[in-house]
Amino acid sequence: MTISESKAPNESKTSSNFIRNIIEEDVKNNKQKKVVTRFPPEPNGYLHIGHARAIWLNFGMAKAFGGECNLRFDDTNPEKEDQEYVDAIKEDVKWLGYEWSGDVKYASDYFDQFYAWALDLIKAGKAYVCDLSAEDASKYKGWATKPGKESPYRDRSVEENLELIEKMRAGEFDEGACVLRAKINMASPNMSLRDPTMYRIRKASHHQTGDKWCIYPNYDFAHGQEDSIEGVTHSICTLEFQNNRPLYEWYLENLPVPSVPHQYEFGRLNLNYTITSKRKLKQLVDEGCVNGWDDPRMPTVSGMRRRGYTPESLKTFCDMVPVSKSNSVIDVALLERAIRDDLNESAPRAMCVMNPLKLVITNLPEGEIEEMVAPAHPNKPELGERKLPFTREILIDKNDFTEDTTLSRKKFKRLVLGEWVRLRGAYIIKADEVIKGASGDIIQVNASLVPGTVGNDAPEGIRPRGVIHWVSAGHGIAAEVRLYDRLFNHAEPDKGEEGFMAHVNTDNLTVINAVIEPSAVACEPESRFQFEREGYFVADRYDHSAENPVFNRTISLRDTWAGK
Ligand code: ATP
Ligand code: MG
Repeated sequence: MTISESKAPNESKTSSNFIRNIIEEDVKNNKQKKVVTRFPPEPNGYLHIGHARAIWLNFGMAKAFGGECNLRFDDTNPEKEDQEYVDAIKEDVKWLGYEWSGDVKYASDYFDQFYAWALDLIKAGKAYVCDLSAEDASKYKGWATKPGKESPYRDRSVEENLELIEKMRAGEFDEGACVLRAKINMASPNMSLRDPTMYRIRKASHHQTGDKWCIYPNYDFAHGQEDSIEGVTHSICTLEFQNNRPLYEWYLENLPVPSVPHQYEFGRLNLNYTITSKRKLKQLVDEGCVNGWDDPRMPTVSGMRRRGYTPESLKTFCDMVPVSKSNSVIDVALLERAIRDDLNESAPRAMCVMNPLKLVITNLPEGEIEEMVAPAHPNKPELGERKLPFTREILIDKNDFTEDTTLSRKKFKRLVLGEWVRLRGAYIIKADEVIKGASGDIIQVNASLVPGTVGNDAPEGIRPRGVIHWVSAGHGIAAEVRLYDRLFNHAEPDKGEEGFMAHVNTDNLTVINAVIEPSAVACEPESRFQFEREGYFVADRYDHSAENPVFNRTISLRDTWAGK
C-alpha cells in the first residue's frame, strides 16, 4: 500500500497512535514511575529519514509523558562501525531538536556486565560453547516448518564451557572457531529460540573499547539487558524484531536483571523514490553517486539538512504518517509538501534570475537608481522589508520573454513583444524591441516603464499579462545555484532484480550561474528563501559566503513529478 498525499491525513497523528495508547494506559495504571524510551542506532552509517521517524517516536513519546529518552549506540559490530558515525548521529539528533537523557550511552558500556551474565547462564546450564562451523550451524537450525537438530556440543559440562568461554575471551581461538549459544529449544516454532548465538569471536578493534574484547555479544543478547540496565520502560522498535521478542523476554527472565522493559514493534517507514537502508546508502557514497553521506540528494538527516529541510518539516511529516503495525510505503510527495508548507510560512522572499536576459528600460536615465521596497514576506510584516534597487538595466529570465505574439494570455502570463507585464514590486513595463546576436538569439530587450505604476493598478487600456521577477543588472549578485532533483527516477528503486543502482536519476543535479537580489546574499549559511516563482532555496551549509554565494534548491514551488 502506498499512502499518497491525497490520502494523507492533515491533522497531527501523534495524538492517537497505538504506542501512545499503550503508554497512556501504563501511566494511568501507575505501571512505572517514569516513562523511559531509547533511540538505539548502530553507528554503521548516517541516520536517514526512517531513523528520524524512530527518533520522533521515541523522543516524542518520552516528552509527551514527561519521561526521558536515552541515546544509546548499539555498538556490537566493531568492523562496520566508526567514530565518524557516532559523531554524525549525535549532531543529527541535536539538530532535530531533541535532548537525550544524561550522557550518551553505548552497548559497550555494559560489556563487562554482559560477560558476567553469560557466565551466569553457563553456570545455570543454559548456555554452551558450540564448535559447529557457521555452515553446519545453519544446517542444524532447520527452517520454519522443520525443527532444528541439537548441536553435538550442546551437552558440554559447565566446567568445560567455563573454560572454553574464558579461552574465547582471551583470544585463544580464531574467528569462527566457536560461539557461545543459549540453550533454549532447537524444535521451537520460533527460529530465534533455536539456541541463538550470544557471543562470537571478532578480532577487531572497537571504536569505544579498543582491543579489550575479542568476543562481542549479538544484538539479541544485548538489547534487552541494555534496556533493563537503563530502566527503559517501553522499548520501541521496528516490525522485523517481532519474532525476536520471545528471545528478548527469555534473556530478561533468565538473568538477574534490574528491571523488566517491554518491547513494542511498529511499521518501518518506507518512502517511494527513496532508499532507507544504511547499507545501500553507503554504496551510493562508496561508488561516488553522491558526494558523501550529507550530499543534499541523500535521504539522510544531514543530507536533508543541507538540502534545506527544517527540523520542523521533518517532524510535521512524521506527524502526518500514521504509526501502524504494518509496513507501508509513503509517497515522498508528502515529505515534500511538509517542507513546502513550512517554508511558505517561514522563508523570506527574494528574487533570483536563473537564466539572465538583459532588459533596458529606455525611459529611465543611465545612472539613476530608484529604490523599491518590498515586504520580506507577503503576510509576515514582522520579517521586515527589503530594498530593491531599480535601474535602467535589469535582468529578467529568458523564459519570461517571447516574441511570439500569438500566445494566448492564459498560456503565457509573462512578457510578450509589444505588450505589458508587471515587474514584481516595481513598474509595469512594455517590451518595445528585441536585439539579437549574430546567431539570431535574443540578447537584449528594450522596454519602457509606465510612469506611476509602482504600487498602483494599471491605467486604462494597459493590461499586463502577469508579474515577472527581475534583478538590477548592476546590483544583482552572481551566485552558484544547485538545482537538485530526486535521486531515483523509479518509484520502487529497490524492488526489481536489476537493483537500485540501475534507477539512479542521472539528471539529478544542474548547476547554474544565477543573479540574485542583493538583500539575499549577505546571509548566513543555512538561511532559507523563497526565490519568487522558482522555489525554495538554502544558502549552502559549507560552501556559501557573501563573497561566493551558493544556494541549493530545496524544493520547487510545485510538485513537478505529479502525474509522471
Ligand atoms: P538500516 O537498515 O538503515 O541500517 P537499521 O534498523 O539497521 O536500519 P539501526 O541503526 O539499527 O538501523 O536503527 C536504529 C533505530 O531506528 C531502530 O530502533 C530501528 O528500528 C529504527 N529504524 C531504522 N530504520 C527505520 C525506518 N525506516 N522506519 C522507522 N524506524 C526505523
Ligand atoms: Mg540495525
